[in-house]
Amino acid sequence: MSLNANQLHFLRTLFPDGDCLTAPEEMLVFETDASRLNGAPLAVVRPQIESQIVELLRWAHAECIPLYPRARATNVVGLCVPERPGIVISTLKMNRIIDVSADDFVAVVEPGVVTGDLQKHVEAMGLFYPPDPASFGISTIGGNVATCAGGMRAVKYGVTREWVLGCRVVLPGGRVIECGGRNHKNVVGLDLTRLMVGSEGTLGVMSSIMLKLMPKPEATASLMAGFATLEEAMLAVGRVFRAGVLPTALEFMGPEVLDCLALLVPVPWPHGTGAGCVRAVLLFRIDGSGAAMPADLERLRRALNDTTQGAPMWLEQGVGSAEEEPLWEIRRLINPATYYVAPNKISDDVTVPRGSLLPALTGIRDIAARHEVPILTFGHVGDGNIHVNIMHNAADAEERSRAVEAKLAVMELILSLGGTLSGEHGVGLTKAPYVHRQLGEDERAVMHDIKAVFDPNGIMNPGKAF
Ligand SMILES: Cc1cc2nc3c(=O)[nH]c(=O)nc-3n(C[C@H](O)[C@H](O)[C@H](O)COP(=O)(O)OP(=O)(O)OC[C@H]3O[C@@H](n4cnc5c(N)ncnc54)[C@H](O)[C@@H]3O)c2cc1C
Repeated sequence: MSLNANQLHFLRTLFPDGDCLTAPEEMLVFETDASRLNGAPLAVVRPQIESQIVELLRWAHAECIPLYPRARATNVVGLCVPERPGIVISTLKMNRIIDVSADDFVAVVEPGVVTGDLQKHVEAMGLFYPPDPASFGISTIGGNVATCAGGMRAVKYGVTREWVLGCRVVLPGGRVIECGGRNHKNVVGLDLTRLMVGSEGTLGVMSSIMLKLMPKPEATASLMAGFATLEEAMLAVGRVFRAGVLPTALEFMGPEVLDCLALLVPVPWPHGTGAGCVRAVLLFRIDGSGAAMPADLERLRRALNDTTQGAPMWLEQGVGSAEEEPLWEIRRLINPATYYVAPNKISDDVTVPRGSLLPALTGIRDIAARHEVPILTFGHVGDGNIHVNIMHNAADAEERSRAVEAKLAVMELILSLGGTLSGEHGVGLTKAPYVHRQLGEDERAVMHDIKAVFDPNGIMNPGKAF
């Protein structure tokens, strides 16, 4: 399929001055996203104002041409990849912070604002936008809302969903709906805002987004704790919550992750496999008032230090960002370190109820042994969210097929524990073939009916989500 002369004329008139790309070499980068899947678009357009999106969606609906909203393309599941020929809508030129109100504790932004830029902007005013996907410096509010992005601070502050008060959405056909508003509470009508959050670009294009803010916490502290076994680390997670401590962030690194980190950098804990060596690490962050921080840290240390269940054998702490950063830098090195194990990985971000973390993690280790592939586990255990990296060499067909089988076994395990196939990355193209394992036929049918109300011709990001 290609666009005819009339269609190209329409697009070039609506998106003048280089905002309509049609040359293959200009569109190359828009074929793919962080999933590394790819599909060629027919054209790429870069709207600067909402009325351009309205005209585009009115026209594309009538012409039945697929549309693919795209922000910074950092999603890892193929959400921006044109699954069939269509037009990519890049939101990068809609990147204005429209309003920040210290009275209403509200920010109104265009979808292409980079999350880290908004965070810096509001923090300079003593305000705080908590959602912090690790990609905060390179991903956008629009992408975060459309994927309901999570992040480290989700343990205490929840995921993106909790911070979206409303949005304006352009629907196929050109209607614009206003969902939610500036009020922090609002129960009038169905919650269309929540429907948009996590909808993966399948319902409409958000042209502006209204976010809730809070006062910036005065102080933070971090504590890294090393345990002799995975089991002891998981018991400690339960103890901390039962002691009444609600960490801002709580990250975990399993034994295989510690081994590959040690290949990349000198790690601070006693490393190895013998007695006295650390085999699992928890990393906590807490926040609150400066005056309360020493007592809060002490309470966390007390909760960890239970000798009957296995106290940490190594601890390091930092108060304030200069002291905390080296601890978090180790966490950030996991991704580059994984490639010391094998050149390719199948990544998943499965999630289980917090009480099922131990059977999930030990079950995944059993699967690794059974399928003879290294599986690295780490992630946001405070939310029950485990990043699973199945390492392999994709050039070896037999090894690749063992890795794929291991992925299926991990999915079955997680679902048997009442978990979910994705906690934050979404479904996109990569998980679409597996969604029926988690969602029933009736639930999926209702989702398709809802989509048909928003998008009767099925032009919005086809092939993704459900
Ligand atoms: C290094 C790295 C670390 C990461 N860490 C995390 C993490 O900690 N937590 C996490 O949740 N994710 C993480 N991710 C995944 C990714 O960053 C998130 O999914 C992010 O929300 C995507 O934002 P984006 O701006 O890149 O959106 P894109 O990838 O461009 O788009 C994502 C989805 O949003 C839709 N979309 C974008 N704008 C609009 C709009 N205006 N209207 C309607 N739909 C729209 C697109 O159609 C697509 O479906 C990470 C990725 C990388 C590469």
